[in-house]
Amino acid sequence: MSDVELDQLTKVYQSSDESVTAVDDLDLTVEDGEFLVLVGPSGCGKSTTLRCIAGLEEVTEGAIRFGDTEVTDDRPKDRDIAMVFQNYALYPHMTARQNMEFGLKMSTDLSKEERADRVDDAASTMGIEELLPDKPKALSGGQQQRVALGRAIVRDPAVFLMDEPLSNLDAKLRAQMRTELQELQQDLGVTTVYVTHDQTEAMTMGDRIAILNHGELQQVGTPLECYHQPANQFVAGFLGEPTMNFLEVGLSDDALVHDEFVLPISSALADSMGSSELVLGIRPEDVILSTADDAGDGAIPATVTVVEPMGDASNVYVDVGTSSVTVSVEGHAAVNPGDEVTLAVDESRLHLFDRATGESYKHSDVEAAALDDADGAVEAP
Ligand code: ADP
Ligand code: MG
Repeated sequence: MSDVELDQLTKVYQSSDESVTAVDDLDLTVEDGEFLVLVGPSGCGKSTTLRCIAGLEEVTEGAIRFGDTEVTDDRPKDRDIAMVFQNYALYPHMTARQNMEFGLKMSTDLSKEERADRVDDAASTMGIEELLPDKPKALSGGQQQRVALGRAIVRDPAVFLMDEPLSNLDAKLRAQMRTELQELQQDLGVTTVYVTHDQTEAMTMGDRIAILNHGELQQVGTPLECYHQPANQFVAGFLGEPTMNFLEVGLSDDALVHDEFVLPISSALADSMGSSELVLGIRPEDVILSTADDAGDGAIPATVTVVEPMGDASNVYVDVGTSSVTVSVEGHAAVNPGDEVTLAVDESRLHLFDRATGESYKHSDVEAAALDDADGAVEAP
């Protein structure tokens, strides 16, 4: 087992007419035994990063170390890794047992009996003993993915690399496999880098998450740190469902000024702003919706457009002037489309970003005390 260190990792794909910087100067350390989720939108460089760690791509610049050993130029088979892909990549002509055994045959000099024991152990860990005689086409998607995971754990690697391994599964199975995979990783204690574009998977599975955009690291931290204390507007908007509301505001005389409202803020907060051109960020769950017609100081007038009941909660979509704002309320929302409402938000829950750079000037204070005690500090890039 070992940690994985990416040191100024850069990967440029060069073709005759263009060059694409897929990974840009990435510094990242995955701790020994950690479950790190690499998350970001499609094309941000997640798979490329993982393929560099696996040795499937030649790096353009920088170094990769497993523990104290530099592996940057080692061949994939000389790195102590196992990789799981979205499309399982099982050999169709082999049974599940043969698929799981194949890597051991290639990469170890274990005897036939030892290999069989290892496969039986991994199969029992994954609960797939009865699938061992079957070929992939006889298996469901979920069963094939379990075999693919079994094939990875049978090798007892120092590092697991997983690229969107649950994407082909239906929603219910995906939720179940999320939990199973986490438990499996905890039991095995193997350093794991898990790639996904799905912020829910990142928030629920990662010990820490690393958020990428355009090949650049945006933030590394625990899911709650990144959610409550986003380093910039990109991270704030990427994490959370429904997403954070953003409204362009100006700063003037201890107030945030928008075409539709003036929101007073403390002078301490106003003084801490690095610019007067700001973006106000409010999470849907932090908006206080009121039907009372007392548009007092700082109340934001809004009109309800859509009400989306979801059972335990409701999403209420409202218009503030020409901007749309999402409000999450617990249980049933007692409002209807067309209703005039007011919105309020506690200063402690506000986020403020520099409009030009997206840099965070102020994040939500929620659970800040608890987060300060948590492991691992927020790292800005
Ligand atoms: P992700 O996994 O986050 O969706 P990728 O790592 O696959 O992103 O891709 C990052 C960028 O590199 C994209 O712009 C993609 O088009 C480009 N890219 C990926 N693989 C290649 C390749 N083999 N040749 C050229 N460009 C590539
Ligand atoms: Mg990818």
